[in-house]
Amino acid sequence: MSTIRNEMERFFQKTNMVSTYKPMFLKTLLDLGDFKENEGSQWVQDDGKNLEVNLNFVAVRFIYYCHPLFFKFKLKQQFGIMTVLSYKIFEEFDVFNVKNKVSKAEFSKDKYQDARTRLIKDGLDKTVFKLLLKDCNIYTRTKPYTFIISKDNVTYLKEHKNQLRKALNHELSLFLGRFNNSPDIPGKLEEVQKRPSLNTADSLENVRIAESRCFYCNEEGTKFAQDHFIPWNYLYTTEKYNMVPACTSCNSSKHDKLAIPKFLKLIIDRNNKLELSPGYSESFMKSQWENCRINYHGENEPLWKNA
Ligand SMILES: [Zn+2]
Repeated sequence: MSTIRNEMERFFQKTNMVSTYKPMFLKTLLDLGDFKENEGSQWVQDDGKNLEVNLNFVAVRFIYYCHPLFFKFKLKQQFGIMTVLSYKIFEEFDVFNVKNKVSKAEFSKDKYQDARTRLIKDGLDKTVFKLLLKDCNIYTRTKPYTFIISKDNVTYLKEHKNQLRKALNHELSLFLGRFNNSPDIPGKLEEVQKRPSLNTADSLENVRIAESRCFYCNEEGTKFAQDHFIPWNYLYTTEKYNMVPACTSCNSSKHDKLAIPKFLKLIIDRNNKLELSPGYSESFMKSQWENCRINYHGENEPLWKNA
């Protein structure tokens, strides 16, 4: 009999991916050993030896993982013009139009039921649920939209959760990296990522070089936010070359948008006055800005300028 260990190994050796669905599905199962009460427990029955799991449990997590990829990081999930179903659902159902990160508990609520049902019916059940068994036979399909997984397998998934999550994220990164020009995709796939602040000395130096004026509107001030010139959600790193002092008004109005070329020129001039790491150059800055415009901001979207 084949063990779950061998099955997982088989998955990583042979997976043929046309979308992110397979590793995403497996990633959702890593939660089976230690989910919280309100995070979909109603869809998991324990008979002592096995868990019987309704696909709603998977759908909640699927949505949870795909939501930031779509809304926050704007990463395509598939080659070409085809859009994966989860993205279509985000556009179709108004409930998803939320700015901040949404929890698994929230996506387990009734108001998401229609969206979950559509994802299950037209996406998970039709394609990945059955197909995945060929690559990785760790559960049995039972009633419609339900599967059985042994508690031994669940224990294995729980005990190896961190390694498996990293390995699955690696598969996802490789796949997404083939058609997304976006920095640090592995970092973007991690669930929790804190936005680091610029250190105090560098912040003070930036303010001093700007002569205590807002980088965008030139207003003099005493307190500034450190703005990510190329949006954090694209660059996903806090580097001195990309940080500028901004007044509250400019900072909140710019948010995660990309600024007009005038400011690109200004930041390049500003950066000439700073001591930066050897990796920095004017052409590097220009290409980061241009890549962000095409791959994150949107080629046809108007760029941000201060009022
Ligand atoms: Zn300003």
